Amino acid sequence: ESKLQLIKTHIRAFPDFPKEGILFRFCSDGGSVPGLDARGFLFGPLLAQRLGLGFVLVRKKGKLPGPTVSVSYELEYGKSDAEVQEDAVAAGQKVLIIDDLLATGGTMFAACELMRKLQAQVLGCMVVVELKDLNGVDRLKPHKVFSLIQY
Ligand code: IMP
Repeated sequence: ESKLQLIKTHIRAFPDFPKEGILFRFCSDGGSVPGLDARGFLFGPLLAQRLGLGFVLVRKKGKLPGPTVSVSYELEYGKSDAEVQEDAVAAGQKVLIIDDLLATGGTMFAACELMRKLQAQVLGCMVVVELKDLNGVDRLKPHKVFSLIQY
């Protein structure tokens, strides 16, 4: 019961999202482990829990309620926008960004940009798989990249 009460303290209500007339309830508490939409959401929370840290959703544009910051980035085919809630990370907070796979690094670079906008300090970018031929690591310099499996 007390755990449910604790969860409840982190659920906020956002009026008129995603449409006028809707009260959108969303659980977010800020944190130090931003994970990328969508497969970063599989690995990020596991790591955050192990480290006793909060998980932050970095989503595609339009999915998050409340004030957000966003950045545009290039994909292999076309463009996309990544977005994070403005109060998801405090200025000066240290963060570790998580995704499943690093290819060209465009997606991870966008996440680093979001963290820069929020004045967070990126300690590193973590992925399960790195595709080395695509040089994502170079694109992300001077940020450090940690990968478990390389191709
Ligand atoms: P990048 O922006 O080019 O580094 O692409 C990385 C993003 O695209 C990650 O969020 C991945 O989930 C996804 N991605 C790109 N290539 C692959 C792939 O070969 N397998 C799985 N996911 C991929």
